[in-house]
Amino acid sequence: METKIIDGKEISLMVKNEVRDKTAAFKEKTGKEVCLAVILVGEDPASQVYVRNKKKACDYVGFKSLSYELPESTTQEELLELIEKLNNDDSVHGILVQMPLPKQIDEKTVIDTISPLKDVDGFHPMNVGALCIGEKGFVSCTPAGVIQLLKRSGVEIAGKECVIIGRSNIVGKPMALLMLRENATVTVAHSKTKDLAEVVRRADIVIAAIGKAKAITADYIKEGAVVIDVGINRNAETGKLCGDVDYENVAPKCSAITPVPGGVGPMTIAMLMNNCLESALRFSGENI
Ligand code: NAD
Repeated sequence: METKIIDGKEISLMVKNEVRDKTAAFKEKTGKEVCLAVILVGEDPASQVYVRNKKKACDYVGFKSLSYELPESTTQEELLELIEKLNNDDSVHGILVQMPLPKQIDEKTVIDTISPLKDVDGFHPMNVGALCIGEKGFVSCTPAGVIQLLKRSGVEIAGKECVIIGRSNIVGKPMALLMLRENATVTVAHSKTKDLAEVVRRADIVIAAIGKAKAITADYIKEGAVVIDVGINRNAETGKLCGDVDYENVAPKCSAITPVPGGVGPMTIAMLMNNCLESALRFSGENI
């Protein structure tokens, strides 16, 4: 069987180009800029890379980006004060606080403080609740990116058996809600699932978000399934990035599969840009 390799780089570029065009139209129509505020606390090297990439994407699509790099010793009060200031600033449409935060700061309190109207990461309980009952709100960027990968690759979702492996608040749970919204029959598997291979073998669409290198091997996969690999892990032997799926052995069994890197990864930032543009459109009442 011919296996389609789903190209996340190409699809994310498509999304970013659409956002870029709409941003230009927004500027032309309103004379205003779309603005994302990014807050980084401390000097975690991985977080610094993520923040740099988010700023680069803002430049690409034509957003203004405000960057706040705060010292490791920042208190929770100081951070909350900055968030409140940005919540009240009409020129700011999205607020992103890069996780993880230093231990003196409670992540949940921070998430709860960001205005749900500017929560472009989709982590605020109001946005999670909105997703759950099918109302408008911001959707967590990685699962939203997976939906775009599937749709833009022509994968039919309605009526399909979908098994999601992982139940985190950032990936697994919102992923399940989104697949349900797309009318899939959804199973969520996790670390306590009995006979995981048997459960995953039922799936027409497998979405792995575990965080364990090559945990999903060929014997988990039904012939012809679509496999989406959200995992980003370091291969202990080669030091290279790899997914949760044993790509080499799984790919020949699939009808379509995402590679790591170059699959789901690039979609996350593209969807962040999309959420921020949506926020600016909502605030201004424009429909572009
Ligand atoms: P997490 O650690 O919060 O959750 C992992 C989930 O996997 C848990 O719900 C757990 O129940 C389940 N799990 C763990 N071991 C299992 C096992 N042996 N069998 C079945 N289920 C098991 O992780 P997360 O934040 O959801 O991230 C998952 C992976 O996705 C990580 O590799 C992370 O780096 C990656 N990730 C990628 C992106 C991206 O942009 N592509 C974004 C977020 C996370």
